[in-house]
Amino acid sequence: MRSVITGGAGFIGSHLVEYLLAAGDDVVVLDDMSTGAPRNLLGALADPKLRLVQGSILDRSVVEDTIRGADRVFHLAAAVGVRLIVEHPLSSLRTNIHGTENVLDACLANNAKLLLVSTSEVYGKNTADKLSEDSDRVLGSALTSRWTYAASKGIDEAFAHAYHTQYGLQVAIVRPFNTVGPRQTGRYGMVVPNLVGQALRGEPLTVFGDGQQTRCFSYVGDVVPALVRIAEAPAAVGRAFNLGGAEEISIEQLALRALRVTGSSSSITYVPYEEAYSEGFEDMRRRVPDNAAAFDLVGFVPRTTLDETLAHVAAAIAETTKADRQRSAIVDPTKGGARVAEVAQAGWAR
Ligand code: UDP
Repeated sequence: MRSVITGGAGFIGSHLVEYLLAAGDDVVVLDDMSTGAPRNLLGALADPKLRLVQGSILDRSVVEDTIRGADRVFHLAAAVGVRLIVEHPLSSLRTNIHGTENVLDACLANNAKLLLVSTSEVYGKNTADKLSEDSDRVLGSALTSRWTYAASKGIDEAFAHAYHTQYGLQVAIVRPFNTVGPRQTGRYGMVVPNLVGQALRGEPLTVFGDGQQTRCFSYVGDVVPALVRIAEAPAAVGRAFNLGGAEEISIEQLALRALRVTGSSSSITYVPYEEAYSEGFEDMRRRVPDNAAAFDLVGFVPRTTLDETLAHVAAAIAETTKADRQRSAIVDPTKGGARVAEVAQAGWAR
């Protein structure tokens, strides 16, 4: 199999790269390194079956060149993280809508199968006890960036579905729910790396709002094999699948759990949404997946517990922090840039 992964230097993408290389695929990564990072691929760089292309999905010719000859494409490149979306609404819309259209066209031209990685954000504010794939989407104002982001991912899905029904493109859609694990950065707002990182550094844990909003966190190690199985299931074509965690937990309880798992004595501080994001920011009070469709199709079960997940995240953050400290001690700061970036850059083709 020749697999292309857009966004392959990102959090989920880099885990998928490792999984597919281990399965024997030739893998091409297309990533613009905006939110992805070369260091995410350090473990995979030595594999001759991996080729890296630094470029944007907005660049049509790069997308065409990268996908030419591919058997399948995993499309993960997208604007990611609530903070980024709120601060950069226009580039988020462009990346999601125009970038995805480029990927769809290139897949069609090359007869490549496509797995479109969407998001549980498409359900918006629907607080149903278990969102199934055909649940209603409840979005707020069309002028609010969080909801326009959700709308743009919904457009991606609609685009993909229309390419399937009108042109026969072989495409399946997945909607991950709060996937977390090693290499996820808290820079764009994601709560688990934020809280665990704060706990490890002895800083106050920032719980936004009243902390009673709930989520179901899924572990990247459970999600990635399911992505591949769904991509390979003929019956998945033309359909969408939720991939979420098993345990519903409030963010306040999550903070307490992060303290327990890390053994930290940090305090918890409650930050109003308008301070954390901006005036008028709206959050989901609750988001709970129904994983039945993915279970029926490929036997998806989110097996890793939240405590195990938090322990993995804590270990990864502690290791990265240690490596960064050692590196900063040996890299001349006047030259800028850490050695890891130079090493990784050497492997990039333009
Ligand atoms: N959140 C928080 N503290 C943080 C970051 C996020 O309390 O430092 C909250 C956020 O407001 C939301 C939940 O945690 O209610 C999950 O946030 P995330 O951005 O990880 O995912 P999403 O909102 O997309 O589910």
